[in-house]
Amino acid sequence: MQDSLRVRPLIPELCALHGAVGWSPRNAAASRIVADVRFISIHDTRTGSALPLQTGVEGRVGIYACGPTVYSRVHVGNARPFVVFSVLKRFLEREGYHVTLVVNVTDVNDKIYDAARVAGRSSDELAREMTAHYIADTDRLRLGRPDFEPRATETIQPIIGLIDDLVSRGHAYAEQGDVYFRVRSLPSYGDLSHRDVDQMDQGEGVEGAALKEDPLDFALWKAAKPGEDVFWDSPWGTGRPGWHIECSAMAEELLGVGFEIHGGGIDLAFPHHENEAAQTLAARGEQLARIWMHNGMVELGGHEKMSKSLGNIRGLADVIDEFGRDAVLYWLLSGHYRQPLAFAPETLEAAAASLQRIVEAGRRLGGAEPNAECSDSHDAFFAALADDFNTPRALAALFGWINAANRCDPAPARGQLEGMLGILGLANLLEGEEQAPAEVVALAQRRDEARAAKDWATADALRDELAALGWEVRDGTSGPELIKTF
Ligand SMILES: [Zn+2]
Repeated sequence: MQDSLRVRPLIPELCALHGAVGWSPRNAAASRIVADVRFISIHDTRTGSALPLQTGVEGRVGIYACGPTVYSRVHVGNARPFVVFSVLKRFLEREGYHVTLVVNVTDVNDKIYDAARVAGRSSDELAREMTAHYIADTDRLRLGRPDFEPRATETIQPIIGLIDDLVSRGHAYAEQGDVYFRVRSLPSYGDLSHRDVDQMDQGEGVEGAALKEDPLDFALWKAAKPGEDVFWDSPWGTGRPGWHIECSAMAEELLGVGFEIHGGGIDLAFPHHENEAAQTLAARGEQLARIWMHNGMVELGGHEKMSKSLGNIRGLADVIDEFGRDAVLYWLLSGHYRQPLAFAPETLEAAAASLQRIVEAGRRLGGAEPNAECSDSHDAFFAALADDFNTPRALAALFGWINAANRCDPAPARGQLEGMLGILGLANLLEGEEQAPAEVVALAQRRDEARAAKDWATADALRDELAALGWEVRDGTSGPELIKTF
């Protein structure tokens, strides 16, 4: 059973690995040595192969996943990376790692300007509204929030600083208020997405074409244009950052350079991730991330990618309303993250039957010791996740476990089932919904009273206390609701 092989790294080896990693001071709090780690591999787009997960400082894993551009409601395709990287974090934490998950919000972008113009609204207001919707819609997946959700508009100074470094190193140039990255100044450009520089199109259309030294170059900073209502002062005049530089700056701010995993949809590999990687390598002389982990697209019939620009989207909130959160989560985990995933109502309906099998298994199980056959399936579940985060194989192992539990006596420990479902965000199947313990209900009532008395400090403190117990109070239209977060 090679899959379940456990290796115990020596501390000096770990230290040697950590030496090359620069962590930001804000992230350097509590740390923990991973004393007993499973061998975990993840497919890396740059090398085209599975790489061992080599951690940074003392078992820390930094994950940066590109989040949505907030110009309309998030669709079920946007939910895929959210789920993949949230569940990956749960798995790695269960394996003993200290994981910091960063999912950014792109809240300044051409698409937002365009959508705001069409709607006759300010782009700032539109971005704020859609950010709030994104938070509320993804909250309904009940996987908790990422550790950091930086906004591009709140990272402007670090972005300007990074562009300035690129200019002073000769990798970028200013021209009439725009700043462009000099692509041919970086020989490795194209490595990440396996493209030949002579056959590339940055997708910027005719914009700035006359100002570029080379059509390959891409914008780091764009001068403010008439009709654009959001811009900042910079050494190059008023303007706003390009999309790619936003992510390089936000990732470095929160995770340093050389962090473990950079994630996102495969449609972002070029030009977005190629450009992110190029900017950081050119400015810092070091790779932004060790592993580039890309999820496949959600497709709607006919192998067509679901995307706002193609107009064939299904909103995440609508799909949760129609099929339920559990079925949506199960469906998103039922395919290998690297493969395309078809959105089909019958697949989501079928998920309900699978979920019911889990619920029934949970009801039958007592607290007895797991049998050997169950333990094999339990190991296979974790081995599948350790092998390039293979969730369909993990789900197959989960059902293998249930079959073994049904056949064998004594009944296996419910704890094993809880552990597996907890990683997948489906532990609620065993608990039933909304059954908060009395202590939690009492805390929530005290918080209500504090809010009614406008004692916000107490209300916030009680909310934090509930969060520490794994419960979140959501102030819904029909009064406060208690939701289990892990
Ligand atoms: Zn990004």
